[in-house]
Amino acid sequence: GCEILDYPESELIGQNWLEVLALPEHREKAAEVFGRFVAGKSGPLMKNANFRVRDRQGNVHVLDLSSRLMYDEQGVISGTLSSGADVTQRRQLEEELKILATTDFLTGLSNRRHFLGAAVLAMESFRRYHRPLALLMLDIDRFKRINDSYGHVTGDQVLVALADTLRETLRSADLCGRYGGEEFVCLLPETTEIEARLVAERLRRAMADRRIAAADGELRFTVSIGLAEATPGDSTIETLLQRADVAMYEAKAAGRNRIVSCGGAG
Ligand code: GH3
Ligand code: MG
Ligand code: MG
Repeated sequence: GCEILDYPESELIGQNWLEVLALPEHREKAAEVFGRFVAGKSGPLMKNANFRVRDRQGNVHVLDLSSRLMYDEQGVISGTLSSGADVTQRRQLEEELKILATTDFLTGLSNRRHFLGAAVLAMESFRRYHRPLALLMLDIDRFKRINDSYGHVTGDQVLVALADTLRETLRSADLCGRYGGEEFVCLLPETTEIEARLVAERLRRAMADRRIAAADGELRFTVSIGLAEATPGDSTIETLLQRADVAMYEAKAAGRNRIVSCGGAG
């Protein structure tokens, strides 16, 4: 413990570890958990409890502690014996892995799998509470031409600019994902088709107004957007995605740089 926490024994022995080591904001909770344990209220063993503590330098460590109660000859609790490990790095790696597993590396948006997982939950909630839910599917217009004329790196910059526009324009409750190479999806909770159409129009215009710096000047891009509002007939997220996809292809066929909702053309 002294080694991990960079303390000489003399400064720890005889001290209440909660007062010396626990983070102020976690002290109360840690005191409660540990207090219950030493009072014998949570059994003789406490396995793999994680506590955040501060070392002598003020650096935060995550300790994974397992503790056992000790009893005197009369069977009265006389103390605890704890052993543990510093799992700070492991926790950090786990956090980083979680981010890697759920986000698209280029744009920072949710990746397809994570988006679908969240969309399934949103759909379940829609079916239970009957709150409006809308989905947008966006596809960049003539993106092959952008790649061919300006190169793949500039193409990637367009994808990042599109993602930035989504982040700047949408609310924090909205969930955006990169669905395919240059296809994006946005799930808009508490949003009707009429409201979603306004959002989509705002997005469409913001994308069209955006200028991307390229080697030989500036370039612009547009998107076609398919819109679908969840209906009681949507038993799964798949049907909603399918309708937004069909609407998006209709927007392409109708000339691109426009929004079509599955309810009708526009
Ligand atoms: P449309 O208006 O019909 O959508 O025309 P399009 O050229 O955009 O056609 P499509 O949507 O089929 O084109 C997809 C292109 O996107 C093909 C591929 O080269 C490009 N692409 C896919 N992923 C990436 C990527 O990560 N980076 C870049 N730069 N290009 C990508
Ligand atoms: Mg496409
Ligand atoms: Mg495209």
